[in-house]
Amino acid sequence: LGSGVHDRALRARAHRVIPGGMYGHLAVEKTQLPTNFPQFYETAVGAHVRDVDGNEYIDLMCSWGPVLLGYAHPAVEEAVRRQMSLGDINNGPSARLVELAELLVDTVAHADWAIFGKNGTDATTACCTIARAATGRTKILKATTAYHGSNPTFTPIPAGVTDADRVNIVEFAFNDLASLEAAAAENDGDVAAVIVTPFFHDGFGDLASVDPAFAAGVRALCDRIGAVLILDEVRAGFRLDVRGSWERIGVRPDLSAFSKALGNGYPISAITGTDQLRDAADSVYLTGSFWLQSVPMAAAIATVHELVNTGGVEHMNSLGQRLVTGLRAVAEDHEVPLIVSGEVTMPKIRFVDDPDLRLANVFCSTALDFGVFLHPWHNWFVSAAHTEGTIDAALTAAAAGASAVRQSL
Ligand code: PMP
Repeated sequence: LGSGVHDRALRARAHRVIPGGMYGHLAVEKTQLPTNFPQFYETAVGAHVRDVDGNEYIDLMCSWGPVLLGYAHPAVEEAVRRQMSLGDINNGPSARLVELAELLVDTVAHADWAIFGKNGTDATTACCTIARAATGRTKILKATTAYHGSNPTFTPIPAGVTDADRVNIVEFAFNDLASLEAAAAENDGDVAAVIVTPFFHDGFGDLASVDPAFAAGVRALCDRIGAVLILDEVRAGFRLDVRGSWERIGVRPDLSAFSKALGNGYPISAITGTDQLRDAADSVYLTGSFWLQSVPMAAAIATVHELVNTGGVEHMNSLGQRLVTGLRAVAEDHEVPLIVSGEVTMPKIRFVDDPDLRLANVFCSTALDFGVFLHPWHNWFVSAAHTEGTIDAALTAAAAGASAVRQSL
C-alpha cells in the first residue's frame, strides 16, 4: 500500500511544472505527512477514496470538509446531471440562484438573504467588507491562530504578506471573553466586526467546543458596541446544525460564511445575513467570473434537501460519537497517550509530548497501511455516507496504529 509507482511518477512530473510540486495544505511532502500517504487520487465513492495506484481507503477527511453526504452522492449527482443538460453558465444566473437563496433563508435561522461565491475565503472576505460598509469602521477582531482564509489578511504563512495587510486585524483568545473585551476596548469606536468559528478548530493543539457563555458574550459585546458578529461556518457549517452551528446554544450571528459542505463537493460558498445588513450587502461590489455557475447551486439545493430529509446531522453525530468513544477505548487498551478533541463529527487527534508529530505519524501511517485514511494534525470529518461498519473498520486500523505507537514508545 501507500505511495506507489504512479504517484511517484506524477510527483516527479509535478515538480517540473508546479512550484514545489504542490501548493498549500494539500502538499503531502511540505506538510510532512508519512511517506506512504498518496499525493494523487483517481476516484472516490461514498466513504471510500482510491489513489492513482489503485489503493482504496476508508476515508475520514472528506476532501477536507466539502464531502458531507459521501463522495458522488446519487441525489446530488442526479441534480448535477439535470442542471448540466440545461447549462452551467450563461449571461446571467438561472432560477437556481433564487431557489438556493430561498432554501437558505428557510433553513438557516438568522438568514434573511444570501449571496453566493466559490470559496470560503470569498465568503469570509465579503463578510468583512459588508461589516465595514455597514459600520464605517476598520478593525476586525479574530481569535489567535483561527483560520479564516488564504488571502493576505488571514493567511497563517507570512511569505508575501505586508504589515498593511494585517494592520486592521486584532486578535483575542477563543473562549476568553476578557481578552475579547480588551481587544475591543483598545480599538474603541473602530471595531467593524468580530469573526469567530463555531468551535475552536485550528492550530496544532487541541480543539475546543465553544463555551456558551463566551458565545453569548460575543453577541452582547457586538450589540453593545455596534459591531457585526460574523460566524465563520466554512468548516463546521451543516455538520453540527442545519439552522446554524450556534443555534443550539441560542446565539445568532449577523453574518455567516458557508462553503465546504454546502455543495457536497461542488464549488460554492454562501454569505447569509440579517435584514439590518441588507443595504450594506447591496452597497458592496461582489462578483466573480464563475460565481453564478448553476451546477454547484443545483448541487447545493440537492445537498441541503438530502441532509434535512435523511436526518444527516443526527446520523453523523451518532457515528462521530462511536468513533470518538472507540478511539479513547483503543488508546486505553494500548496504553498510549492519545488525546481526542473537537466536535465528534470533526475530531482531531494528538499524542501527549509529541511536538514533532512522530507518534501521530506512526499512528496514521499504520492506519493507512490498514486501508484507513486518518490525518495526523488536521481535524477529520465524518460524512453521512459512513456506517457503523466503516467506523468500526477505522477503529480496527486505529488499534493497529496504537499498537505501533506503543512499540515505538
Ligand atoms: N474559514 C475556515 C474556518 C476554513 O476552515 C477555511 C478553509 N479551510 C476557510 C475559511 C477558507 O476557505 P477556502 O479554502 O475555501 O477559501
